[in-house]
Amino acid sequence: MISVSEALSMLFTLVRVQETEMCPLSLSAGRVLATPIAAKLTQPPFAASSMDGYAINSIEADLHAQFAVVGESAAGHRFEGKLGAGQAVRIFTGAPVPEGADLVVIQEDVERRGKLITLLTEKDGNSNIRPAGQDFCTGDIMPAPRVLAPSDIALAASMNHANLPVFKKPVVAIISTGDELVQPGESPTPDQIIASNTYGLKALMEANGAETRILPIARDNRASLETIFSLADGADLIITIGGASVGEHDIVADVAASLGLEQSFYKVAMRPGKPLMAGRMGTSLMVGLPGNPVSAMVCGHIFLLPVLRAMLGLPKEPAKRLSATLSHSLPSNGPREHYMRASQKDGYIKAAERQDSALLTILSQSDALLIRPPNDQARAAGEQVEFISIS
Ligand code: AMP
Ligand code: MG
Repeated sequence: MISVSEALSMLFTLVRVQETEMCPLSLSAGRVLATPIAAKLTQPPFAASSMDGYAINSIEADLHAQFAVVGESAAGHRFEGKLGAGQAVRIFTGAPVPEGADLVVIQEDVERRGKLITLLTEKDGNSNIRPAGQDFCTGDIMPAPRVLAPSDIALAASMNHANLPVFKKPVVAIISTGDELVQPGESPTPDQIIASNTYGLKALMEANGAETRILPIARDNRASLETIFSLADGADLIITIGGASVGEHDIVADVAASLGLEQSFYKVAMRPGKPLMAGRMGTSLMVGLPGNPVSAMVCGHIFLLPVLRAMLGLPKEPAKRLSATLSHSLPSNGPREHYMRASQKDGYIKAAERQDSALLTILSQSDALLIRPPNDQARAAGEQVEFISIS
């Protein structure tokens, strides 16, 4: 059995980074920028007023000084002339500052009578002018790769990009296996249960940049599984759920091998989730997850999300570990790394009392996976432990 970090390293070696495509800006949030983009212009393109007021020459800005208002500069409509001595231009936020002015006196600090203004306050050292290029200049770079946040979309728009180069969404085919499974909404017979983690994994993958296809449930026989595998053709990542243990109904490894899977590993020293397998299968990466609902979801967080991020050109890194103070004691851990369902708040973390890998209620109430390293000693309340956020 290999360790979690060994399994993840092997998975990373199996990853092929997605091709890129151009995506309309308005659909690019959450996508991964594939190549750096350069600003196509300078912003602001001109020295702009940051306030409503009067543009003047600061040399003349003495208390009670008077100016003749000779024109107006509004956003989108600049004052074309040059400011002479004793002259002011009425100016509004976002408007170009006229030539000859280097100060905008805010309107609250001015008394206006007809075309004449009088300054009511001393200079405060604030020009109320945004210099040209204050935000960015032509050629300035937004680096890649990066997951495009709403603020990045605003910046890319401001840089005048209508389409962005992004990595293509990996197509993920999800295959549930089991004679006992039916789809949500169907009526199970007394021996049947609902395929659940299938939908949890779909949600997890889609929330992190994948396009998913849920394939029909494969039954526990070779012909059925082969048929369903054939439907996964062309997927970048094939995920199977269940049928991965050593029971006689667990045929995923055999069938996948007969269809060309070059298995990289099978079984990982972790709890939950031991019977995990992976390898390349033609143009697809195949990951076989255990069927237990919580095991599959935990493997989703520990393995599939880092793999998905790597496919999207992001750094090959394990799930981010945070630390918190244990709010109660924990017994020593066995030889497998344990990912305990837990809740954390205000720097403290508490493991759920029941850790059975079939309990989706507990998983749903948890927002963290508390990590127990292999053979970790017993821990007392107040000790620091590591966890992964799953909220
Ligand atoms: P298996 O790995 O096929 O032996 O499955 C382990 C356990 O997980 C069994 O109790 C299965 O009924 C259950 N199981 C397998 N696949 C799913 C699924 N997609 N959704 C919910 N439970 C599942
Ligand atoms: Mg099964």
